[in-house]
Amino acid sequence: MTNPYRKRRGPWIDLLLIGAIGFLGAVIVFLTFLSDNPLFPHSDKTSAKEHTITEEASNFPGIKIVTDRSDDKNLPFTVQYPATEYEDINKVITTYIEESKQYYINMMRLQQNSEKLAGNLTISVETFEHDHYYSFVLTNKMILNADDKQTTIQTFLIDSETGVLIDIHALLNGDSESLKTFAAHIQSELLKNPAYKEYVLEKEFAFATEPKWELFNRIALKDDYLFIYFNEGEVTKPEAGMPVVEIPLSFINPLLASDFQIAMQSENTIIPKVDKDTSKKRIALTFDDGPHPEVTKQILALLEKYNAKATFFMLGSRVQYYPGLVQEVHDSGHEIGNHTWTHPVLTKMSPADINKEYNSTEEAIIHAIGEHSTTFRPPYGAINDDIRNAIPCKSVNWTIDTLDWKYRDPEKLLPMVKKALHNNAIVLMHDIHQSTADGLEPVLAYLQKEGYEFLTVSEILPYH
Ligand code: ZN
Repeated sequence: MTNPYRKRRGPWIDLLLIGAIGFLGAVIVFLTFLSDNPLFPHSDKTSAKEHTITEEASNFPGIKIVTDRSDDKNLPFTVQYPATEYEDINKVITTYIEESKQYYINMMRLQQNSEKLAGNLTISVETFEHDHYYSFVLTNKMILNADDKQTTIQTFLIDSETGVLIDIHALLNGDSESLKTFAAHIQSELLKNPAYKEYVLEKEFAFATEPKWELFNRIALKDDYLFIYFNEGEVTKPEAGMPVVEIPLSFINPLLASDFQIAMQSENTIIPKVDKDTSKKRIALTFDDGPHPEVTKQILALLEKYNAKATFFMLGSRVQYYPGLVQEVHDSGHEIGNHTWTHPVLTKMSPADINKEYNSTEEAIIHAIGEHSTTFRPPYGAINDDIRNAIPCKSVNWTIDTLDWKYRDPEKLLPMVKKALHNNAIVLMHDIHQSTADGLEPVLAYLQKEGYEFLTVSEILPYH
């Protein structure tokens, strides 16, 4: 069999073909060289080809885990994310993943060549279940070089029955009053947590925990708890890591949309029920850690001037020295609460020691006023069921922390109250700091002007 073309083709054509092949080869070598040159980094198409995507079933019905791994040693990444049965949700998740990858790739391109090998991107996913809700918590660790690393959290909370993404707005039924209470609670939880309170960045903290819907967008439901995540440096110094606030759903049951409410509501919920009847405004001022021979007296005079009743959570160790002052507080119509003898962290104590703290203080109060205290407040708000069982009366924390102990600034008292103000609030202050007495009058004047009635803790509890 003969080929007519072969017969007609002269040697110059072979030379031309060889030349063309050689030229193309050189172009390929040149382009390959360029792509490794930091001045001409990989195009999107090149990097997109150099990765492997695998998908596997998970322990959660309807959820697959996708792993996207880069095979490019200059742009390493391992990215893991969930794939659900719902296209809309998958689109939201993959958009986040693609944006994260693209940001990392862009940042890596800006690096000097020598720093390239130090970079890495890892996104890992944890899945939590609560009824028919899945929460995906994605931890995004991006390393650009030895000095530039950042870890961020992204969450996706989905209803596995309807394929709808749930945000804080849906969780709190879009009620802005509930959001205010919720935000105030998150603030006080962060501020009393020993792992974070020393590291709080005042400005950032205030900004990131304002009652705005868009701020609480990293949430997860796990069993009967709600988790709220913050990024590094968002509310605390970076050394405090990534703060997480964990709230039993029973605590915030009254705030939740009906679908998220759980059957058992805690008796000790510190979150007040949202009061739809705004015609009546109530507030309970509380003063802890006293009595103090000068400051408590000044506070009593101011409360009298504004015809306000308050609650004083006293320490037994101080009550014993000032029984006459305790009597005066009581005779002025205020309530006396028990705040332990030595102000310890009760959650770290034996039941016997907890009883001793409570009983010795109770004896000192009875000695001073001839009556029992009305309520108990655990120091630092630290409480658990063992303590609740050990203490015979009701334990009451607060819904607004003025941080007067921290700022010691009379000018800051009113702004702190205003910032978190909500109906039926319980306000935490301390009658051992002169600055608190000095800043109290504007608070009383403002609340009176706003139409608030000043109740004791026992009086306000029925509204919670
Ligand atoms: Zn205290």
